[in-house]
Amino acid sequence: MCSPTSLATNIDRERLCIAARRLFTHGHVVGNEGNLSQRLGTDAVLCTPTSRSKGDLQPEELCIVNFDGVAIDGPLRPTSEIKLHLEIYRQRPDVRYVVHAHPPHALAFAVAREAIPQGILPEIDFFLGEVPIAPYRTPGGIDFAKTITPFVQHAQLIVLASHGTVAYGTDLSLAVANTEMIDRYCYILLQALHLGRVHYLSPDSVRQMLQLKSSKGISDPRSETMCDDSLYQLESTCGTWGEAAIEQSIFARRASPSAGGTPQAEMAADVWQSLIERIATRVAEKLEQQGSASRDRAT
Ligand SMILES: [Zn+2]
Repeated sequence: MCSPTSLATNIDRERLCIAARRLFTHGHVVGNEGNLSQRLGTDAVLCTPTSRSKGDLQPEELCIVNFDGVAIDGPLRPTSEIKLHLEIYRQRPDVRYVVHAHPPHALAFAVAREAIPQGILPEIDFFLGEVPIAPYRTPGGIDFAKTITPFVQHAQLIVLASHGTVAYGTDLSLAVANTEMIDRYCYILLQALHLGRVHYLSPDSVRQMLQLKSSKGISDPRSETMCDDSLYQLESTCGTWGEAAIEQSIFARRASPSAGGTPQAEMAADVWQSLIERIATRVAEKLEQQGSASRDRAT
């Protein structure tokens, strides 16, 4: 009978540490945040320990737990969020890796409870598809792990309200890459918001992208209907928004009369209002400075 330690090879351990370092180096986790794991056979999981930075994790520090989350090997205690990983492994026998991180721009959406919009960047729609936001529960417990249950089958990355992201799949590099992609996408959306509007792709462009996706054998719930509105709606997740207090507000797709009916998300009225007030204040300050400078010259 083999020892628990021998369930994971040195290559398994090394790869998990390299992925952890990549997340840390790119700022998707800081301090001791985040955790990663790999399925080992039918009843064991290799995972990162609790309270250790992902920036300098060593292969021998990794833990092995069984499917009840009980540590069976390793010098340190396993991550306190292992139940989240186990929930995914239970529901998805195809999944080999789970990567949990706190990427800051995706987390901004998770804090704002703003749904991740679709139909804006084709690569995001193609590679990530639907990105649901799971309701908030105190991290660590079984209630927390169960928040992702409605989404695990259909998504490959889930945003956790007021917490972070969890990505999973058969490939470790892809789970890390998807974490990077969602964060970059959310960063771009926030930058576009500064410019004042976000342009949605036309329904025909989204349809073409979905057809391409389906020709590559990648499923997307939007392919089923193909009617204009449902191309942009998060069909399988918007039914759960109420519980999580999720809205599509700032990035809601609206018809803009000024753009000839082109669907686009316009900056919310209160954001405009605050911008206008800030500009007005700065103009008043500038005028005041110029006024006092000319009074000084005159005296
Ligand atoms: Zn976390």
